[in-house]
Amino acid sequence: MPPSRTLRALAGYEHPTQLAVCPECAGYALDIAAQGNRYGFRCQTCRAHWDWRPGEGWPPVRSPGS
Ligand SMILES: [Zn+2]
Repeated sequence: MPPSRTLRALAGYEHPTQLAVCPECAGYALDIAAQGNRYGFRCQTCRAHWDWRPGEGWPPVRSPGS
């Protein structure tokens, strides 16, 4: 699936895309890959990676610098 379709699917979800921030550094530069009904995320800034499924809570975002 091309990345643009993945992003559109996320944007159409009930939660806005802006919640897609890195839990580690609160960065927005993320690589997103659909994996079945899950999404794999990788932060381009700090290289943290995690996955998320619609309906799950987003991982807690650390405050930058803490
Ligand atoms: Zn990060």
